Amino acid sequence: MKKKSTCPSCKKSIEKNKNDQWLPFCCERCKLIDFGSWIDGSHSIPGEETFIIPDDEMPPH
Ligand SMILES: [Zn+2]
Repeated sequence: MKKKSTCPSCKKSIEKNKNDQWLPFCCERCKLIDFGSWIDGSHSIPGEETFIIPDDEMPPH
């Protein structure tokens, strides 16, 4: 039973027993790219509301 795996980063098919140290990625670069984008995503969540503080409560001066 053979399963073809694809790299989640570059979508290239990975040959089994070739670069299995980077699985499920095909290479170190793809692993780092995916890890980087994962960190990036945590910084800006799509749909997150921006809190706007109204400044109409400022005391007159
Ligand atoms: Zn790849």
